[in-house]
Amino acid sequence: MAQAGIHGLVGVAVRRWTPTRKLLLLGIVLGNLLPDADNLAVAVATVTGGSTEGLHRTFTHSLFFVLALVIVFWLVGMVAKRPSYTNLGLGLGIGVLMHILLDLVIWFNGVEILWPLSSWVNFWEGVTPPEWFAKLLMPLEMLFLAAYFYWLGQTAQRQGTNLNRVKGVKVWTAVQLILFLILTILVYTLKSGFMTIYGALYLLSLGVAAVLTVQMRQTIENF
Ligand SMILES: [Zn+2]
Repeated sequence: MAQAGIHGLVGVAVRRWTPTRKLLLLGIVLGNLLPDADNLAVAVATVTGGSTEGLHRTFTHSLFFVLALVIVFWLVGMVAKRPSYTNLGLGLGIGVLMHILLDLVIWFNGVEILWPLSSWVNFWEGVTPPEWFAKLLMPLEMLFLAAYFYWLGQTAQRQGTNLNRVKGVKVWTAVQLILFLILTILVYTLKSGFMTIYGALYLLSLGVAAVLTVQMRQTIENF
């Protein structure tokens, strides 16, 4: 996976070129974050002693998932007569697509791009990063989330949007920075148990990122 914070920042990077349609940009940013929620399935499987095989970078990283999101939200939008739901679904589809492309480009892994069909694409076949770097990629999740939260806070202040939320966003930015420092130490020193601590903190952080993104939608969309 590329780090969730990178996905978030890439999501907000396209705001300049996104048509001003209600919930479209929110969908794009959430769509960039959404696919790695499959790590929740990995965590559940790990805790219950099941197999984690084929759970990450598969069903949420598939073009069929993109299609399903767009169609379901389009239908809901039609039935509920809420065009903004259709925009949200379109945004989610675009965001997930961006996530898949970014995952293919960075960080030494492939994607089951047409899951459930067998379709593993890996540009990194045969490339193994040095161990110290592979380890560092985990705490870096927290650093990049801090960067994404920092962007949210700064942008809100600059635009004068969601000002009542800025303090909370700053607190979470600091929390992510502290977690980055602690986990960086632990990943190189703990003999066992790191993945459990890290997994729990990662999922919590990803959840916080999704919640803050929704709360700060006025800042993200700003029109
Ligand atoms: Zn991913």
